Amino acid sequence: MGLHLSVQLVSAMNGGDLLGQLFQGVAGGEEVVRAGKGRIMPDNWVPPIKGPVRHPADWLSRYLIEIKRRPLCLMGNAVALFEHRSKGGTHVEAAVILPEGADINAPDTRWSVWHEIGHAADFVSTREDCLIATPHGLYSTAHIKVLRAYQNVIIQWSPCADRAYKISPPELWAEVVACAICSPAWLPDEVMRAVRADLEKLNLPLPDEAEAQIQEIEGGHE
Ligand SMILES: [Zn+2]
Repeated sequence: MGLHLSVQLVSAMNGGDLLGQLFQGVAGGEEVVRAGKGRIMPDNWVPPIKGPVRHPADWLSRYLIEIKRRPLCLMGNAVALFEHRSKGGTHVEAAVILPEGADINAPDTRWSVWHEIGHAADFVSTREDCLIATPHGLYSTAHIKVLRAYQNVIIQWSPCADRAYKISPPELWAEVVACAICSPAWLPDEVMRAVRADLEKLNLPLPDEAEAQIQEIEGGHE
């Protein structure tokens, strides 16, 4: 689940449209994060690796994203949220919000945090030790074809009540990220093949294929 303050879906755009949209900002909504012209890089800049990422908190701190706590009653039905807002100019601040008292190591919460990290990778990027917005979703846009082709598989573990919004490209991408890390055996091979290089580039802790097969054999999905 997630709260996207600056999301516009770009499921059917050609390159020209997309470029035009990138530099126009997003219409409507009061918490729009506008990225300045010329500051969106064609590719995510990734900070230097300092050891493997094993925990979502490690990934978030490496990418300058805070973990904040909020009373559950102020989070709607969400188990976790990703939020980002402008700090002025092109820079943004971003946070993953967890309910007060939630244990980040509990399997369900951890899945949700990796899902929000999927949104984070999609909508903000680090550059020169600052966060900048990538308002149209870098990876949900790049992988839209395979996400659409497998959307019903990708959302099949989501609660029924969530499925209407889960088929948006950013949600499909975020679900794929969580699934690739937590339950890779659930993910269609073609989806994994399509996204693996980007997940590796993002320093996400993907289990290797042998490990994924062992998990599948043991039936030990968390
Ligand atoms: Zn979400």
